[in-house]
Amino acid sequence: MIEDKSPQRTPIESLGEFGLIDHITKNFEISNYSTVTGIGDDAAVLKHTKSTVITTDMLVEGVHFDLSYAPLRHLGYKAIMVNLSDVYAMNAKATQVTVSIAMSNRFPVEAVNELYEGIHMACKAYEVDLIGGDTTASRSGLVISVTAIGEQDADKIVRRRGASDGDLLVVSGDIGAAYMGLQILEREKAVFKANPQSQPDIEAYSYLLERQLKPEARKDIIKLLQDLEVHPTSMIDLSDGLSSEIIHLCKHSEVGITIYEDKIPLDPTVITACEEFNLDSTTIALSGGEDYELLFTVKQEDFPKIKANPSLSVIGHVVDASLGINLVTRDGQQVPIKAMGWNSFKE
Ligand code: ADP
Ligand code: MG
Repeated sequence: MIEDKSPQRTPIESLGEFGLIDHITKNFEISNYSTVTGIGDDAAVLKHTKSTVITTDMLVEGVHFDLSYAPLRHLGYKAIMVNLSDVYAMNAKATQVTVSIAMSNRFPVEAVNELYEGIHMACKAYEVDLIGGDTTASRSGLVISVTAIGEQDADKIVRRRGASDGDLLVVSGDIGAAYMGLQILEREKAVFKANPQSQPDIEAYSYLLERQLKPEARKDIIKLLQDLEVHPTSMIDLSDGLSSEIIHLCKHSEVGITIYEDKIPLDPTVITACEEFNLDSTTIALSGGEDYELLFTVKQEDFPKIKANPSLSVIGHVVDASLGINLVTRDGQQVPIKAMGWNSFKE
């Protein structure tokens, strides 16, 4: 995860705006039939045969990332992932992205290159086409805005609404690791500030750091559900934290949900890091954000199809709205779940 810090600093002015756009977009290839015209014209032209889904997410320096520990290559990759995650959460196939950046003119061309290397890596790995964007100057830090486009048959799109009493609540992968990765990065930054000679000791936390710096959108889970012939009744991706996403599903579906503390999937390193930081791992799983896993409900009759799958955990079930949203703790107590997720307007 260590960056090869290139000492070269080519000013952006030496390329000019158009030269810069040509430079950063030249390696991108088109891999989707639905991209008719990509970068270079006044607008891109798309032709999907199915329904189109579209989503936008913006990453702002100082709010969503800190350049002192988020390498630009990872940031580019993550900016694409957070958007693809929203497309997959609709049970759709991601096909195109646009990327708009606002950056200080003090940024050298090498820095923009790194950012676009990450974007390129993500587009290639997930088979999405970069079809346009905008490039402008910023006087207040780096801003990256991505729009992702995808497609799916109208009747296969899965929304936040659609869960009903008795459905099972399922989460992919494990949760809480991205949040703990951030805690490690912030701690190491503080240690480094106090003593610039110190060597960060991060070997043991590589999984947590990877989950924070280089998340993967769960394209594979969408494929898995299709292969298993499981059609979720409702779905959302985990960006702000399990508790707030559960609340969204309940609100949109007009249901309640009960989850079980002992069913929440945690990586062992999350448990170790929580002990070290004196944090409760269930609280971290419920409120730590940026997991980019998928949270969805399925009909009970689909249980046999998913129960043996190591990537899927049934963590609870849907109940009548009147019963509310609750966590059953390890010792059998029932506690109401409140929104505790990450919120960028919170100070
Ligand atoms: P216009 O002035 O017509 O908006 P631009 O000069 O901004 O055109 O952009 C030229 C082309 O380059 C367009 O296809 C646009 O979508 C694309 N483009 C501009 N900036 C970016 C970027 N940061 N990433 C990807 N494509 C970009
Ligand atoms: Mg433009």
